[in-house]
Parts: sequence; structure tokens; C-alpha cells
Amino acid sequence: MESALTARDRVGVQDFVLLENYTSEAAFIENLRKRFKENLIYTYIGSVLVSVNPYKDLEIYTKNHMERYRGVNFYEVSPHIYAVADNSYRSMRTEGKDQCILISGESGAGKTEASKKILQYYAVTCPASEQVQTVKDRLLQSNPVLEAFGNAKTLRNDNSSRFGKYMDIQFDFKGAPVGGHIINYLLEKSRVVHQNHGERNFHIFYQLIEGGEEDLLRHLGLERNPQQYQYLIKGNCPKVSSINDRSDWKVVRKALTVIGFSENEVEELLNIIASVLHLGNVQYGGEDSNACITSDIQIKYLPRVTLVLSVFACLHLSLTFLSLCVFHHQLMSPLNLEQASSARDALAKAVYGRTFTWLVNKINTSLTYTVYTRTHTNYSVIGLLDIYGFEVFQHNSFEQFCINYCNEKLQQLFIELTLKSEQDEYEAEGITWEPVQYFNNKIICDLVEEKFKGIISILDEECLRPGDASDLTFLEKLEDTVGGHPHFVTHKLADAKTRKVMGRDEFRLLHYAGEVNYNVNGFLDKNNDLLFRNLKEVMCMSENKILTQCFNREELSDKKRPDTAATQFKASLAKLMEILMSKEPSYVRCIKPNDSKQSGRFDEVLIRHQVKYLGLMENLRVRRAGFAYRRRYEVFLQRYKSLCPGTWPNWDGKLSDGVSTLVKHLGYKPEEYKMGRSKIFIRFPKTLFATEDALET
Ligand code: ATP
Ligand code: MG
Repeated sequence: MESALTARDRVGVQDFVLLENYTSEAAFIENLRKRFKENLIYTYIGSVLVSVNPYKDLEIYTKNHMERYRGVNFYEVSPHIYAVADNSYRSMRTEGKDQCILISGESGAGKTEASKKILQYYAVTCPASEQVQTVKDRLLQSNPVLEAFGNAKTLRNDNSSRFGKYMDIQFDFKGAPVGGHIINYLLEKSRVVHQNHGERNFHIFYQLIEGGEEDLLRHLGLERNPQQYQYLIKGNCPKVSSINDRSDWKVVRKALTVIGFSENEVEELLNIIASVLHLGNVQYGGEDSNACITSDIQIKYLPRVTLVLSVFACLHLSLTFLSLCVFHHQLMSPLNLEQASSARDALAKAVYGRTFTWLVNKINTSLTYTVYTRTHTNYSVIGLLDIYGFEVFQHNSFEQFCINYCNEKLQQLFIELTLKSEQDEYEAEGITWEPVQYFNNKIICDLVEEKFKGIISILDEECLRPGDASDLTFLEKLEDTVGGHPHFVTHKLADAKTRKVMGRDEFRLLHYAGEVNYNVNGFLDKNNDLLFRNLKEVMCMSENKILTQCFNREELSDKKRPDTAATQFKASLAKLMEILMSKEPSYVRCIKPNDSKQSGRFDEVLIRHQVKYLGLMENLRVRRAGFAYRRRYEVFLQRYKSLCPGTWPNWDGKLSDGVSTLVKHLGYKPEEYKMGRSKIFIRFPKTLFATEDALET
């Protein structure tokens, strides 16, 4: 038999806390690499699961594997996503505390796959009656639907989630999943009207065009060729080798039925999708971009939009004229070409974005806990958070600003909760807590979100200011207000070296995970996210019931200006933090091994970067600050009792006395361990390894 030492040399340690040189990033990455080469994609840092995307199907997700992890202690089996799922489930059941599993990592790292595996684990292993089976089916089927409407092919991931998702799975007192609830965050609406080279629009458009039945396409006035549609050709990438739009269409169509969409609702939903495509093809006549558009200019394709949306000809007027109310008189001001195109795109984005939210609400209704014919509120919850990771591109805009702000908030929560849970454990066990030094990123969160002085407040102020407000005046305001902040730099404020890599229209934030330059171009528009009032009015008149739910008249009569995009996002994040704070968290940190979506390639530079911004070294340091290893007395005794004549074959006395007898026999020195109320704490990995090795011999 292979000795324990050789096995460890070959496959590394399954918990980073057992690394001798735990402060060394090189040792950390070497351990990841060893395991990755052996297809061991999962490793722990204490109770945090680190997962490296294998980019190939591994035989580790079978029903047998699920059974292996069911009801078993975390450390008795090799690290696995199922262990995290099972551990949360058992904690919820035994301690009655709501749980959440936070999955993070950059695009393509495997977050969505991880969340689906957790959901499948519950669907297979949890008890089920016939009614519960319906809920399980709906929970599982919500994924293909949300992915069709919210995911797209990007340069980083062929199935990239373009929205954040928090999903509660609700369990009854028997531990059966009986309902669910989804909250969506910040859909990347701009993708509807524009895609970068090599990227696509949301999957649903291609699925409909490729997979939709002849009759359906005829009814929607669509041709079976994505090249016909302006909104689908920007990225020049209609086909993706890893995606089969036609078979995906069938899956989505079936999923909609399982979730409980009526035929009528499906038809209305597809009418909207088709109308967005037709809208994209609306062209304005005239050569001169400053020329005002008059109503006699031909607008191709518009009839199609009005037909499928049932909004009549007033759409024509609304896309070419701005209606103004001046001194109680309704005036029609013609739009120029650029304004008219941007009104069209704004309408497409608004229609798609609101329809997506409607879809999430509809799924929520179908997941509402009504198993016993009435809605129950007495359930326990496991929440799954699958949200965009930290993003740094060549060009970073408003979207990256929001996403990275979200990651700052999650990092803060992570620090607070991990430190807090360490502290709580030491206290509960009666062991003196030794404070750990760590970087608290609250200062960056404040810089972004503080009332009156934070970047979002300043942005909102510029958005509201009449007159000459522009992206550049926003930048100037930032310089005036937060210019002195240690985590904020602009071209003007930078030293000579930084200035070389910064544009005059950029500001740089020194995030906990690294520096990012944000280009202010478009910040005001994206934050305002305005849609002309007359376009809203027209949508309200539609005969399409989904649309009238998305655009209602109350919104029109509301004199108050709607909150800006950043402010809405800030509020939704604050709510998310509250939800997560009220639960016991588990963490899955996903890592992408290379940029080419290839199996077996371990790109060290890329991985080092992720290890850094996922804060893994810091996490390990906190976890190791006191003791590398801790186990409940009964677990420890059970595993090692054979090493000591006094505890073998059974120890009848107090568990802690048994462990004392055992470790004394093994020659543990007093500085190597501490005895808590229910657990033994071991300071160094080598002590544990020696004991493990003794088991092998
Ligand atoms: P994004 O932020 O762009 O949504 P993500 O982190 O959600 O990215 P996924 O979509 O989960 O990334 O994963 C990207 C791809 O990597 C998957 O489509 C799949 O091909 C592969 N992949 C991820 N995890 C696994 C796994 N555990 N086993 C096999 N393949 C995987
Ligand atoms: Mg995803």
C-alpha cells in the first residue's frame, strides 16, 4: 500500500489548513496544481470549498456519489460540492438555522454549475411525496428557463450568466423541498442591443429562431436566420460549437410547461421576444444625422413590431417624436436620427429587462410553497447565491463598477462572518481568541456607497442636475469630493507612472482585489436608465398582458422620479446582505484554470490572480491563526482510538478524558494542542500528520 506521505506528495493536502507553509502563495498554488492534475478539483480551507473548473465531465456526480456524502461528516470523505450541500442541509435540520451557500468566482469559473449540482443533490437525496416531486421538478426546470433568457455566449464563457441570482430553497419539517424563491440582480440589458465581437445576445433569441416550429415563426413573422436581425449580428457569432440552440429550445419549451406557463402566456412571451428582434430592425430614413425625422419617413419593420406587440401605430410616433408638456400644453418635438435610434434601443432594453423580471416573478409564483393547498410560512431555508465575480477588463464601465462594488460587499460579509464564526467557536469552546490582522475593505464600500459623499451619491447628483451635467463633470465632481481618498485616483491626481496607464476620462478604484480603471463614458445615461414617457404610455396600451404587467399606469402617474440604476442596485445589495447575515453561511470559491476553456491546462498566472482576489490566502491565515485543525472529541477518538491501548477498542469514560489519554500516549506536547468543551484544537498540521501516519503503519 502507498504510504500516506507519498500519497500526500502526489495529491497534496485536501485541506489547505494542513499546509505546513500556510503563508506561502506558491505552496498554496502547488497544492491546487497537484490535485488538479489528479482530477481532484475540490479542496477545503477549513469549511470553505475551493473548486477548480475541470472543463471536462468527471465521473463524480453520480447517484452513488450523492449517497456517499449523505449524512457523513465533512472530513470523513474527500472534499466535494455534495459535502457542502449535505453539511448545510444537516445543519439546517439539526440546528434549525437557515443556511446559505455563497458561490463566487470569475466568469467561467463554474459558479452556475456548482449551484446546479447543489440543487440536483437536494432533488435526488431529499425525501419526496408526489407534491414535493412537482416542486423539485419546477426548481430544476427554472434553470434552463432563466439561462435561456439571462445567459449568453461571451468571450469568457459560452454560457455566461448575465445576471446575479439568489435562490432560496424552502424545506418543510420533514426536510422535503417544498418551495423556492428567486431574486435576480442587474441583468446586463445592454446586450439586447449590442454585443462585442465574438459574443452573442441572450440564448433565447437563437433558440427561438433555430428551434421554433415553422408555424410559430410564421406567426411571429420571423425568418430562420439570425443574420437577418440587427440585434443578433453585432458580435458576428451566431453559432457556437458547444451550444445546440435547436435542442435547447425543446428543453426550454418543455421547462416552461413544467413551471406552469399556459399556452397563452408562452405565446405572449414569444411575441415580446420576436418584437425585440423586429424593433432592432427598425431603421430611420435620411442621410443627415442631424436631420429631424418627420412622420412621412419610411420606418421599415415597424409594422411587424406593432403587430406582435399589439400597440398600434402610436409606436411610430413615439419612436420619432418626443412628447413634452410645456405650460400644460402637449408639444411634439421631433427626434434626430441619433436620438430616435437611442429611443428605439432604450425601448428594446426596457421591454426585455422588464420581461425578464416578470419571468422571475412568474417562476416564483410557481415555486410558492402551496403543497398543502395553502401557502405555508413555516419552513427552513437554504439560499444559493450565484453572482458575478470581480471583473477587470481592458475597458471597464458602469456595469463593472456595479459588479465590483457588489464583490466588495460580499468580501466584507465574508470577512465579518468568517472572523466572527472563528471567534464564536473559540468562545463557545472556552479557548482564548487571538485577534488576526486583516484588511477590512469597509473603507472601499464607504467610498462607493456612503450617503452624500460616496461615488453613487455624486453620480446621482449629476444625473439630477439640470444644465451642463455630463460624464466628465461627474468625474470632476468626484475629484473634488473624494479626490483625497486613499483608494481613489484619477489621471489628474495620479503619479507619473500611473498617469501613463490611465485615460483622462477614467477614475481608478483600488479594490481589495486589485486596481480597476473605470471609464466614465456612459455612466450618466446608464445610471439614469430613462425611457421616454410616451414610449411607456404606448407600452401600457398594449394588448399583450405580460407587457401591461411590466409597464403599468401607476408608474406614469407617479410624479416622483424613479431611483437611478446604481441606487436601486445599492438598495438591493443592502437587502441581500441582510438576507445573508440572517443565515449560516458556507462558501464555495470557484477558480478558472485557463482562459481557453480547455481541460488539463493549469495557467499559474491566471490562478494566482484569482487566489488573490478571492482572498484565499487571507482566509487561510484567519483559519490558521489559532489552530490548524479541530475535531469533535467523539470523531477524533473514533478515528485514532486504535493507536492507544487505553482507548482501544472502546472508551467508556468522558470523551474529553479519552482524548486526553490518547494524545498523551501519542506524545503531544502541551503547546501543540488545546482541549475545548467539545473539541480538540491542534495547532500544527505536522502533529496531525504524524498521527495519521501512525494509523497507516
Ligand atoms: P459566469 O460568471 O460567466 O456565469 P460561471 O462561473 O457561472 O460563469 P459556469 O457557467 O458554471 O461558469 O461554467 C462554465 C463552463 O465550465 C460550463 O459550461 C462547463 O462547461 C464547465 N464547468 C464548470 N464546472 C464544471 C464541473 N464541475 N465539471 C465539468 N465542467 C464544468
Ligand atoms: Mg454563471
